[in-house]
Amino acid sequence: MRIAVIGGGPAGLVAAGTAAQNGLEVTLFERYRIGERINCGEGFFDLLGIWGRPEAGVLFQVKEILFKINNLYRVDSSRLNIWMVDRFNWQHYLSEVARAAGVKILEETPVSVKDVAHIRRDFDWVIDASGVSAISLKARGSTGENRRRYAVTLQYRLEGDFSYLKDSMKAVLEPHYQGYYWIFPKVAATKGIANVGIGCFSYPSEKIDLKKEITRILYQENLHDYNILEYRGGRIPLQQASPFLRDNTLLVGDAAGLASPLHGGGLDMALLSGKLAALSILKGTPHLYEQQLRQKIKHKIVYEEKFYQLWRRYGIDFMEKSLKSALFWGRRNFRKGLLKALRTT
Ligand SMILES: Cc1cc2nc3c(=O)[nH]c(=O)nc-3n(C[C@H](O)[C@H](O)[C@H](O)COP(=O)(O)OP(=O)(O)OC[C@H]3O[C@@H](n4cnc5c(N)ncnc54)[C@H](O)[C@@H]3O)c2cc1C
Repeated sequence: MRIAVIGGGPAGLVAAGTAAQNGLEVTLFERYRIGERINCGEGFFDLLGIWGRPEAGVLFQVKEILFKINNLYRVDSSRLNIWMVDRFNWQHYLSEVARAAGVKILEETPVSVKDVAHIRRDFDWVIDASGVSAISLKARGSTGENRRRYAVTLQYRLEGDFSYLKDSMKAVLEPHYQGYYWIFPKVAATKGIANVGIGCFSYPSEKIDLKKEITRILYQENLHDYNILEYRGGRIPLQQASPFLRDNTLLVGDAAGLASPLHGGGLDMALLSGKLAALSILKGTPHLYEQQLRQKIKHKIVYEEKFYQLWRRYGIDFMEKSLKSALFWGRRNFRKGLLKALRTT
């Protein structure tokens, strides 16, 4: 059986590797080179506890999260499976695993809207892992898809003293937009590097000038004289593109809109959906792929969406109250406290 995978991000690489390791003939199309032009804070949140430590690219385990809402909270995250990763190295490793299993990886080979029809005809199954823009959906010309809910982001890679964030990361919620800004250190040293970004998760996000906001944030955090090494931005899908199976095409990762509506993290879902999509093809049950995925993540999706809506309605005071409850119930295990706070909300 011949499989085409469009996109060499985490979702596509895992899907391709899983399919090839089980004997399928896989070709992966990637528009750039693997690991190039990544848009990400590079925090890996394995909140479902499925993956454990990533196999490569780990910079450090995040032991503490500094949450600033109205007040500052220090959350012990040592049991939450959160890792800072270097996605370039991680994706290179995943691509080597896929290659070793026999995947033909075609780099610098963008798939255009026109190519989609050919690929769909030439391969038995297509896995669309092309990220937030989901080329197979574009090819269907489905305008409804473009009205999906997105977060808009802007992120700088900064060089300077991040020693104060050793083994930790910082997230700050502010009252004038639904979303947050983050400081995720890649190297927490006096000559360190961090991803510093802002994500607006709901309207009126189009009224937020991200560039002005990030300048303000740099002053607020006393980072304004740090070196800006790179800036990037992009959309994060906050709404799923169900159904995930369309003719012979399966949507995975951001293409399926699987990032968290609560915090925008999507790496865990990219891996899970990529793997399940490939396995469903192997078992001859692609029609069950979406159902099986939902089975695994149903509480996560329901609670995160619920929280998103309540945050939207009641603002950051609601978020602060929930965090306090989670800290109270989760004195020994924050994950359990968080779940209880979510359930009782
Ligand atoms: C600023 C920002 C910060 C983020 N921070 C985090 C974070 O800290 N933690 C977290 O978990 N998530 C984060 N996310 C979300 C996370 O990046 C995504 O959820 C994740 O990358 C999804 O993986 P994917 O494989 O589905 O898609 P992607 O990683 O987007 O990979 C898609 C791949 O497809 C390729 N491609 C696209 N179109 C085509 C085409 N037409 N032909 C061929 N190839 C194509 C792309 O080049 C890319 O390599 C962040 C997102 C943004 C924008």
